[in-house]
Amino acid sequence: MQKLPFNTVLIANRGEIAVRIIKTLRDLELRSAIVCHELDAGAPAVSMADMAIAVSGRTPVSAYLDTAQIIAAAREANVGAIHPGYGFLSENAEFARTVVESGFAFVGPTPESIQLMGDKIRARNFVQRNGFPVVPSAIEEDDPATFILRARSIGAPLLVKASAGGGGKGMRIVRDLDTLEQAIAQARSEAQRYFRDGRLYIERYIEKPRHIEVQVLGDSFGNVVHLFERECSVQRRFQKVIEEAPASTLSPGLRERICETAVDIARAANYRNAGTVEFIVDGEEFYFLEMNTRLQVEHPVTEMITGIDIVAEQLYVAAGHELRFSQQDIVSTGHAIEARVYAEAPARDFAPTTGKILVLDYPGGPGLRIDIGISQGQQITTAFDSLLAKVIVHSRTRDGAALKIERAMRGLVLLGCETNASFLARVLADEQFLSGQVHTGYLDENPQLAAGESACDLSTFLAAAALLTRPVREAADAVPELHASLGDWRNA
Ligand code: ADP
Ligand code: ADP
Ligand code: MG
Repeated sequence: MQKLPFNTVLIANRGEIAVRIIKTLRDLELRSAIVCHELDAGAPAVSMADMAIAVSGRTPVSAYLDTAQIIAAAREANVGAIHPGYGFLSENAEFARTVVESGFAFVGPTPESIQLMGDKIRARNFVQRNGFPVVPSAIEEDDPATFILRARSIGAPLLVKASAGGGGKGMRIVRDLDTLEQAIAQARSEAQRYFRDGRLYIERYIEKPRHIEVQVLGDSFGNVVHLFERECSVQRRFQKVIEEAPASTLSPGLRERICETAVDIARAANYRNAGTVEFIVDGEEFYFLEMNTRLQVEHPVTEMITGIDIVAEQLYVAAGHELRFSQQDIVSTGHAIEARVYAEAPARDFAPTTGKILVLDYPGGPGLRIDIGISQGQQITTAFDSLLAKVIVHSRTRDGAALKIERAMRGLVLLGCETNASFLARVLADEQFLSGQVHTGYLDENPQLAAGESACDLSTFLAAAALLTRPVREAADAVPELHASLGDWRNA
């Protein structure tokens, strides 16, 4: 194995992705440092890291967006590199530039590629100029005076989008052109609020498309490979909920064309490190959506089918090494599915929930991976993103993976904060999901899936409550009859 030129890496992030990154750092015998807001003091990432450095801010999120404090932490921990994870500063070109200018390796692309591909309008123009397919659109800044006119001429339905958008924020569907101006105003105010950037563009809204994306990896020597595609069509509020690899219903020809297009786009952008090229697929047609110039939430499904640790490759590339494999070396085996466990109430339009994690237990086993960023006793607030954990499975077939993940989801016990876990279990057992015939409107078209019970199964709840209550536990220990009546459950 090649030697890395740094001993310690600072993680400028939190939650499950920070834990995920620390695991690879340990594998590579590197030390980890992490920045930490006081709300995260009890988080697993903070206890796992070799060193934690407190950061603060006017709001908890702003602490993790404070470049000066992060650079100061990197100096204090004497790190050689900074990993930004996803969200926060991961797609901020100015941050990447400051990291490099301060003498640290940035575990991600160059500031120039972030600037080009991290901005949706710029990326879209670049991709179109290079001859790749994009959806018909109107970009406001091209000529603000004719923006509405140009949008109207595309014809309904339309999708108003924020240039700085992410996580499904700042988007509005327009089916009736009379409501276009109102939708623009709403999308702009949401974009201002989330991204402090009100720039908008409008695309033709494709009905019932599939979201297919391609994981790419590039190095500083001009090598670019893809790690196949992921299907992320199961979405709520334009944000992914369940992802899988490979995309089961793509024809081999279409899969090849999409993967090759992604590599061509990355190559044209001189792309280095890990990135994702997202497409929407309408029948046999596909269109570039955006490029995410960072590690993606759903990267584990790709790791499962390829056996490649994407975070390790990110570190090698950031250290200036050449990619350690070529396209022919990358093989896809079996099928992987991921489900995102959010602190939210599916029956209340997926509103974020809060609470203290009283009981946390989850299953393990071959081909089962749980990426989790919370621990028992921790308070879940709305200060941060609502993603708590990801359940990921790998199996020989899609049917096998679906069965395995549905069981794993039912085995996840998380009491104290309402989550979408039961909802996920229902989706994973739903006939339409099992048939693979899903599109991005699937969850909206099946509101019954979100409307059902939200807590854990009652039996699990009662069992956990019984275990927690000392008198019940003592009684269980003392009275043989009770043991007998517990039957198999005792050994479960
Ligand atoms: P992915 O694109 O990796 O599939 P998401 O779209 O859910 O995943 O976004 C990744 C994470 O980053 C989410 O936690 C989301 O809230 C956050 N995020 C995305 N874009 C931004 C942004 N511009 N600013 C802050 N957070 C963002
Ligand atoms: P984000 O940065 O929030 O991930 P994207 O541009 O990737 O924004 O879009 C998020 C989701 O919105 C897509 O996965 C897709 O479901 C939907 N979407 C985006 N653009 C279109 C479009 N033109 N037509 C239909 N759906 C779209
Ligand atoms: Mg996207």
